[in-house]
Amino acid sequence: MLEAEGIYKSYGGISALKGVDFRVRAGSVHALVGENGAGKSTLVKILAGATSPDMGTLCLEGQPVHFASTAEAARRGIAVVSQELNLFPDLDVLANLFPMRELRRGPFVARKQMIAQARPILHELGLDLDLRALVETLSLEQRQLLEIARALMVHPRVLILDEPTSALHARQTELLHGVLRTLRQRKVAVVYVSHVLEDVLSLCDEVTVLRDGERVLDAIPVAQLKIEEIVAAMLGDK
Ligand code: ATP
Repeated sequence: MLEAEGIYKSYGGISALKGVDFRVRAGSVHALVGENGAGKSTLVKILAGATSPDMGTLCLEGQPVHFASTAEAARRGIAVVSQELNLFPDLDVLANLFPMRELRRGPFVARKQMIAQARPILHELGLDLDLRALVETLSLEQRQLLEIARALMVHPRVLILDEPTSALHARQTELLHGVLRTLRQRKVAVVYVSHVLEDVLSLCDEVTVLRDGERVLDAIPVAQLKIEEIVAAMLGDK
């Protein structure tokens, strides 16, 4: 579904990615793991159009693509939930789920349609919120789930989640995993960045490990891996 080939990215003198290949298939939940600074978020940003690689190519369904922005990637069906939350704190929950529509100030009937679309997705994630509540009044975990709900609203073909459970309780994580399993059945490609290896083993189909900007394990079916092998790949000779 989405493929990156030979990706290089540096920040000043720091090489964040050194020729990384990565691909996620439709109907697969693909874990991307690695220690802090391994290059995961940089790769996520490139896949989602938030930044451009210095070198390397992206392909979507076999066709080369170049995303100048996350908006452009979103138009091609790629949704990202990044580590930094990107909600509008002074807008209400509903407006955050439809930011473009709120800017256009739709009529009342549109608001009813928006509510009808939003409710099932919030419900699936266990988010029982007053849709008129301002986001600034929500807890951190509610915001994290709302950000995920916003990504789901557009029914993406590729969903990229960077540490999506960092603020969540166990029950909320379980609900999220249930939603991701449903997406897998619907042939969505999911990239799941996490340092919680137990979650990776129980949820994901395949694992890619990055270390110091290089890919050291690629798309290994989770069933063939033990947690110790993932840790060993992450740490290398340390
Ligand atoms: P973490 O789990 O801590 O987010 P990561 O695996 O996602 O780590 P990246 O955030 O991609 O790793 O960082 C890879 C390397 O690039 C690190 O050395 C980091 O310090 C550096 N880096 C990332 N973003 C920037 C930036 N905007 N400016 C300078 N250096 C950066």
